[in-house]
Amino acid sequence: MRIAIDGPAAAGKTTLARSLAEVLGYLFVPTGAMYRAAALARRRGIPLEALDLRVEEGGRILLGGEDVTELLSNPELDDLSSQLAVDSRVRKRLVEVQRRIGAGGDVVMEGRDIGTVVLPDAELKIYLWATEEERARRRHREQGGDFAQILAAIRRRDERDSTRPDSPLRPAPDAVVLDTTGKTPEEVLAQALELVEERRAHLAR
Ligand code: C5P
Repeated sequence: MRIAIDGPAAAGKTTLARSLAEVLGYLFVPTGAMYRAAALARRRGIPLEALDLRVEEGGRILLGGEDVTELLSNPELDDLSSQLAVDSRVRKRLVEVQRRIGAGGDVVMEGRDIGTVVLPDAELKIYLWATEEERARRRHREQGGDFAQILAAIRRRDERDSTRPDSPLRPAPDAVVLDTTGKTPEEVLAQALELVEERRAHLAR
């Protein structure tokens, strides 16, 4: 089964996708991390044509053979990646890699355009949502810093991601919207697993 998880910034997509993939024994593909790695490459002066990006077991990201996974959570890359993600040439390049991985079958892929563009015929599509305040609170707990600034940065990024012409963030028409406000990661995982079971039963009919 191909599972697509999309949603706004800091909604818990990576956390859910990673644990869902672990429980199901599926491949975990964090496409946000791919855009972050592309932004890192740009900062290092690597041209798009020379971009060598690979996704390894456990969602680790290799850039030119170097494991850059730990560098990607740097908050500086939040904005840089979302600015770069507006560029259709960059998207085309990454979507190609993502589709190739998705063709393998059992996969949990998270991002902004997975259900709409990358894997439009995924068997299960989840749109993960929570209020802006809740998402800012989660980020603030992880990173510390100024709450108002974090909230403003999330708003700015969501606005850019949902208004760009190419592959804007929006729920696929056939996505199930999961509101995670006030829920623990365990509760969200349990809900997602129920959806997987429902889909499996439906597909077996
Ligand atoms: O999810 P994450 O915060 O790591 O994503 C970083 C940025 O990459 C997003 O703000 C978005 O602009 C871009 N992105 C995208 N399409 C995806 C995944 C991420 O445009 N499928």
